[in-house]
Amino acid sequence: MIKKSLFLIFMCFALQFVVAQQRNYVMAIHGGAGTILKKNLTDSMEAAYKDGLKQALLAGYRILQEEGGTSLDAVEAAVKVLEDNPLFNAGKGAVFTSEGKNELDAAIMDGKTLSAGAVAGVTNIKSPIQAARAVMQHSPHVMMVGAGAEQFAKEQGLEIVDPSYFYTKERWDGLQKARELDSLATQLDHDAQSGIHEVYKDYKYGTVGAVAVDRAGNLAAATSTGGMTNKRYGRVGDAPITGAGNYADNATVAVSCTGWGEFFIRSVAAYDVAARVQYGGLSIADAAAAVIKKIGDMGGDGGLIAINKQGEVAMPFNTAGMYRGVIKADGTIEVEIYK
Ligand code: ASP
Repeated sequence: MIKKSLFLIFMCFALQFVVAQQRNYVMAIHGGAGTILKKNLTDSMEAAYKDGLKQALLAGYRILQEEGGTSLDAVEAAVKVLEDNPLFNAGKGAVFTSEGKNELDAAIMDGKTLSAGAVAGVTNIKSPIQAARAVMQHSPHVMMVGAGAEQFAKEQGLEIVDPSYFYTKERWDGLQKARELDSLATQLDHDAQSGIHEVYKDYKYGTVGAVAVDRAGNLAAATSTGGMTNKRYGRVGDAPITGAGNYADNATVAVSCTGWGEFFIRSVAAYDVAARVQYGGLSIADAAAAVIKKIGDMGGDGGLIAINKQGEVAMPFNTAGMYRGVIKADGTIEVEIYK
């Protein structure tokens, strides 16, 4: 009798262990939200964007699949692939400031420990997300900016590049177009109701991000961006601000945002998703949708990706499109661009 009970107890533990090991691991990514319309993307461009998203998903998946693979490593790896891809507004291919420079922002957060790291306004770090991770793990700080962040990245042995590395013709042309429109409309620059804003907002946006849950049930989020085209010198958006554009807490959700950063900062968007889940008892889908609705009501636009411990994903946006994708434990991949 005792033997039988002991055997049953042992089996229960063993089963729990197996279930824990097989936990649903999932990753979601985005490559920016905006007025992305099918009529403006050729078939080959569409295929190139989708391929870029798939490569990033696979980079994260390879890590999540491994025994002991962490969501933190997975989101960093996925974001790095998108940073290196000139199609996306992060790392190579970042948009230009009004002065014709690339100033990059990034943040990462570990939902298990609530550790976070970020860099802002950096101009020569090849992978800002790696620098954000280094700030989190190898400094007593959460956020470092400009020359100090660059010096720190160099000391950490991260790859430093000439700022011209980030140049792409498409982004340079985008700045010229924004300059023309802005010279007509400086007063209306941040006026969401203005017709002129409607014209140029489509090519101002972009950012990349990833959220994931790993086998151990830990959440992580990473976000990297060139910011908004024609942004003023020193302007920092939501992406590197923990709680605004990036957030992860095992107790609730991991979130990465994209869109008109000023609105995401003012609504503390990423944390607001977590708060609505934690204090309001909302589902991840309802919480994420409510935050994007609030941003829309305030006059802003964009989208976000969110994931919870159960592997449930929400990806709301109020723009015409958002580059996005999900990979599940069984390897199935879904990538989408339009509504
Ligand atoms: N949120 C970013 C920023 O405001 C831009 C974007 O996501 O498109 O810097």
